[in-house]
Amino acid sequence: MPADQVAVLEGPLEGTRECVVCSETYGIEQFPTSAACTHEPEVCGECYDQSINAQLDDKAWDNVGCPTEGCDVVLQHADIHEIATQATQTRYDEACLQSVLAADPDFRHCQRPDCNSGQIHENGTDGPIFRCQACGFRLCVIHNVPWHEDETCEHYDLRVKGRENEEQLQAKASLKVIDETTKKCPGEGCSWPIEKNGGCNHMTCEFPCYRFCWLCLAPYQPIRDEGNHRHYKHCELYVPWRTSPPEPRITIFGQYLQRHKSTRVQTPVNER
Ligand SMILES: [Zn+2]
Ligand SMILES: [Zn+2]
Ligand SMILES: [Zn+2]
Ligand SMILES: [Zn+2]
Ligand SMILES: [Zn+2]
Ligand SMILES: [Zn+2]
Repeated sequence: MPADQVAVLEGPLEGTRECVVCSETYGIEQFPTSAACTHEPEVCGECYDQSINAQLDDKAWDNVGCPTEGCDVVLQHADIHEIATQATQTRYDEACLQSVLAADPDFRHCQRPDCNSGQIHENGTDGPIFRCQACGFRLCVIHNVPWHEDETCEHYDLRVKGRENEEQLQAKASLKVIDETTKKCPGEGCSWPIEKNGGCNHMTCEFPCYRFCWLCLAPYQPIRDEGNHRHYKHCELYVPWRTSPPEPRITIFGQYLQRHKSTRVQTPVNER
């Protein structure tokens, strides 16, 4: 509403009213309303227009409603053209057109982040490059990425596939390394990968839930308490029962120290 048309009045006079949004007083003819509204008009034309604009920012065009609190009338095309400024009408019509176009399966949105435009693009006749009519952004419709300059779609395919193969090979190689240097903890319900990191063959899960022989995965507690016959038979540390001499105390202590060294993360181990 141009300022020179606005009479600033002192106190409400006959035929005037105060806008509930901006608190300015205007003649009642400056309070628009939708034909569907049953309440008294109470938002001035300028505030009404601002509300429509704000709603177009974050709502679908066909959800723009009456700004009066508690009123849930949705504004129709005719309302907008009667109430809103020319600029707001254009915005509204543009949003309406975009949504009609968007229902077309050949419609594509521009992918530039700050561009809301879009248009019909038929792959068969228009080729692989979508060029936004609003901002000029170019998109490859085959690969759905910004247009790959200096590259045909075939070259793009070859380059991307080549990179993927290389990544797969690298992933496989690193899996193999993990396989050779780690074992899964044989502790019940635990499959934490344990990395052997030098030291003796008595490993401790870093959680630590279980101590065991690195070679045969036999639990370490019985080996320590009873002797090397408690390794599993295929283990190179296995010694048949009774021929295994009792281990001197000093050796067990040495093993205990080494066991700590061979644990990847130096978690305090509760001696049982
Ligand atoms: Zn209303
Ligand atoms: Zn107002
Ligand atoms: Zn664009
Ligand atoms: Zn392409
Ligand atoms: Zn474990
Ligand atoms: Zn063993």
